[in-house]
Amino acid sequence: MLLEGKVAIVTGAASARGIGRATARTLADHGAQVVILDLDADTAHEAAQSLGSAHLGLGANVADEAAVADAVDAAMARFGRIDVLVNNAGITQPVKTLDIRRADYDRILDVNLRGTLICSQAVIPHMIAGGSGSIVCISSVSAQRGGGIFGGPHYSAAKAGVLGLAKAMAREFGPQQVRVNSIAPGLISTDITAGKLSDAQEAEIRSGIPLARLGRADDVANAVLFLASDLSSYLTGVTLDVNGGMLIH
Ligand code: NAD
Repeated sequence: MLLEGKVAIVTGAASARGIGRATARTLADHGAQVVILDLDADTAHEAAQSLGSAHLGLGANVADEAAVADAVDAAMARFGRIDVLVNNAGITQPVKTLDIRRADYDRILDVNLRGTLICSQAVIPHMIAGGSGSIVCISSVSAQRGGGIFGGPHYSAAKAGVLGLAKAMAREFGPQQVRVNSIAPGLISTDITAGKLSDAQEAEIRSGIPLARLGRADDVANAVLFLASDLSSYLTGVTLDVNGGMLIH
């Protein structure tokens, strides 16, 4: 039990096959009380209940400052502390540079990057008041290699922005013992990717991955557990690659 007595907020954790849900389950298995924050309150509630009655599901758009503030207030009212934030909520769009419209850019940047800032801003004062905290930001291999398989250039830019934001927050809040780290997943089988690859495309991608398989949501969840817990007590500002060797640099 690495997270006994800790409270963890995981954004974007309602999706049943997603990285967020697997992370919420893993943190709960290690003793954390988990707050699932997702767009729809009922779905978030059901997802939290699937982990057990000790957990809380709340509806909020991570890009909406007032909604996130209300959700963090509700989490504080229920649990009285926040030790871990996993900035996982994200959306993607597979378009090319010349096809990116202003509304697409705003939407992708708002959820992936602004949402990471807003949620971090909402929890950091509580972490400082509690004496410590760990924030884990889910970026993407597409931030590092200039494009993934499903994400357009605006997605790569947003996820690269997440890496810079996380490092800057790590530097700023280290003295108050709030650690901020990132994970850059490779291609993970979830609903974000479901049904979008032919067998031939998948085989071709697999041939470029040294561990010879696509990632599983649990592969990322276990890395989040490491960064969320005291196992990583002297790590801040790092980016952990969880990509089966797809990008070795
Ligand atoms: P998913 O689509 O299964 O889950 C995303 C979740 O985020 C959903 O529950 C959705 O409702 C929620 N969400 C979307 N917009 C939101 C908003 N504005 N506010 C609150 N919640 C919102 O996706 P996933 O594959 O589990 O992705 C999780 C994270 O991992 C994302 O940030 C994604 O960009 C990143 N990622 C995924 C992969 C992959 O291959 N699956 C690779 C690299 C990075």
